[in-house]
Amino acid sequence: MSLHKNINKTIIDSLKSVIENKNLANRLKELSNTDSLTTLSNRRHFDEKSYSTLKQVVELRQKFSILMIDIDYFKLYNDNYGHLQGDNVIEQVAKVMKGALIKTSDLIARYGGEEFIVMLANTSEADSERAAKTLVRIVEALEIENKHSKVSPFVTISVGVAMVAPTDDLELKEVIKKADHSLYQAKSEGRNRYCLNS
Ligand code: GH3
Ligand code: MG
Ligand code: MG
Repeated sequence: MSLHKNINKTIIDSLKSVIENKNLANRLKELSNTDSLTTLSNRRHFDEKSYSTLKQVVELRQKFSILMIDIDYFKLYNDNYGHLQGDNVIEQVAKVMKGALIKTSDLIARYGGEEFIVMLANTSEADSERAAKTLVRIVEALEIENKHSKVSPFVTISVGVAMVAPTDDLELKEVIKKADHSLYQAKSEGRNRYCLNS
């Protein structure tokens, strides 16, 4: 092989290795952002993305909302149908909720075991309520049997909504606390419903 060809081969090999490393880095980043069971964003990724979305909505003075979502009577579900079947439910619930969120600016993540979180940017109170109502309805409409639920023959969710008008000193954790409070209210009012605190 001539010297010229040798140099070309070395350059091409180096470029290939740079591209492979970049692809690997991208894949690793994607894996570290993703919840393996549901393929939704994980909590860490949500924290990162919601922080930049918050900065944006504050700058643009747009209203936004946080929805905290929790599967109802899920301990009883696991106790009676088994943990693997429970995992399957979490997967199905995640999938149908992700499909129901239309705007690309909507964030959804698995926040904990059977809990999810949604951030709707640039939204109104009416739209946030509509989204919460839709999520509650579509999960029950999956008709996943839960004989041990006290509210429905099927697996259901409760949703707590916090609607916020952004201010410069707004902290996301305060909004999440508010959504949690609404979720608690939805649970105590009977579950399989949403509740909004504005
Ligand atoms: P509530 O309606 O008040 O939310 O009642 P709950 O039974 O859903 O609430 P609780 O917090 O007592 O139980 C949550 C249960 O969710 C506990 C555990 O069995 C189940 N769980 C949490 N994470 C996972 C998971 O990753 N997989 C499965 N299969 N179950 C999980
Ligand atoms: Mg819970
Ligand atoms: Mg629960």
